[in-house]
Amino acid sequence: MKEYAFSHEEQSRQTQAIPEIDILWITAGLSCDGDTIAMTAATQPSIEEILLGGIPWIPKVRLHNPFLTYDNGAEFMEHFYSAAAGKLSPFILVIEGSIPDETNKKEGYWASFGTDAKSGQPILTCDWIDQLAPKAWAVVAAGTCAAYGGIHAMAGNPTGCMGLPDYLGWEWKSHAGIPIVCVPGCPVQPDNFMETLLYLLNMATGRAPMIPLDDALRPRWLFGQTVHEGCDRGGYYEQAQFADSYGSVQCIVKLGCWGPVVQCNVGKRGWMSGIGGCPNVGGICIGCTMPGFPDKFMPFMDQPPGSLLSSNAVATYGKAIHALRRFTQASMNKEPSWRGLRHTA
Ligand code: SF4
Ligand code: SF4
Ligand code: SF4
Repeated sequence: MKEYAFSHEEQSRQTQAIPEIDILWITAGLSCDGDTIAMTAATQPSIEEILLGGIPWIPKVRLHNPFLTYDNGAEFMEHFYSAAAGKLSPFILVIEGSIPDETNKKEGYWASFGTDAKSGQPILTCDWIDQLAPKAWAVVAAGTCAAYGGIHAMAGNPTGCMGLPDYLGWEWKSHAGIPIVCVPGCPVQPDNFMETLLYLLNMATGRAPMIPLDDALRPRWLFGQTVHEGCDRGGYYEQAQFADSYGSVQCIVKLGCWGPVVQCNVGKRGWMSGIGGCPNVGGICIGCTMPGFPDKFMPFMDQPPGSLLSSNAVATYGKAIHALRRFTQASMNKEPSWRGLRHTA
């Protein structure tokens, strides 16, 4: 897997301590706003801990998100206009939702945010990104739509939409030398996003090295392992105990789980405060953190083609191992023969 290498100049540019920072969060891509709503469940850290100064050493943070801020209307938009005019800096730009291709039609538009003061016309989401990305200290894609296009970018959709790396370029870097940071998931696992944000905030004060990203621009420590490697049902897979209907505790690969090849930590981390996590609670993994989602994982609920081979291979020894373990288990469930002699004498 490719690792991004950074020059000494890039490292020193991003280690100049930043005492305060704004987060400008635009949900006006093609989005369902699910990633913003997911943030309200974050605990490691929570939004409140970040915003109220509950975590030492990071900059003071001001969050501008249409759902999570007290500002309304013009008061809310003013932060974005100021940033576009170069009057608000430094800031982290967060994009939620996929970015449409506004050049693929003769009239109308796909997505906008706010209005132009002079013309009164909507400002396209693309234009905001064009204006703000070059001025941002870092740019973060929240959720799979913003990262890779996601559901809105399915084959046949009329918008021609895409993720931030396709829009800005995969090699794009902020003026601080930071690549686009993608935190995928549909929606993003709340703590994955907040932990990434916390990492960036530590970078902003020079307390963390450049964020390590994989070749899909995901934080490597969060997306380096598969769902399968952290799944509660892994023991059943190994023993070739495959469920053929929902409601079973066994492995659900034959019901359509893609966990063995999908990079996601939800099996280990759970969803909210460690609770949940798709296969752990009976839901097949449909690959929502992957650049190929959703097209390459469809039709959902069909057994993944590759797993036919692997589950058949496991079945050749898994059932025998399971039987041997039950035999050993039965023995271990009995006390050693030298105990209890008083009653057998
Ligand atoms: Fe909604 Fe999923 Fe797209 Fe986030 S990634 S905006 S949750 S569809
Ligand atoms: Fe792997 Fe999915 Fe089975 Fe879990 S349920 S063990 S992730 S195949
Ligand atoms: Fe998405 Fe699969 Fe992770 Fe669930 S386990 S969040 S479906 S990638």
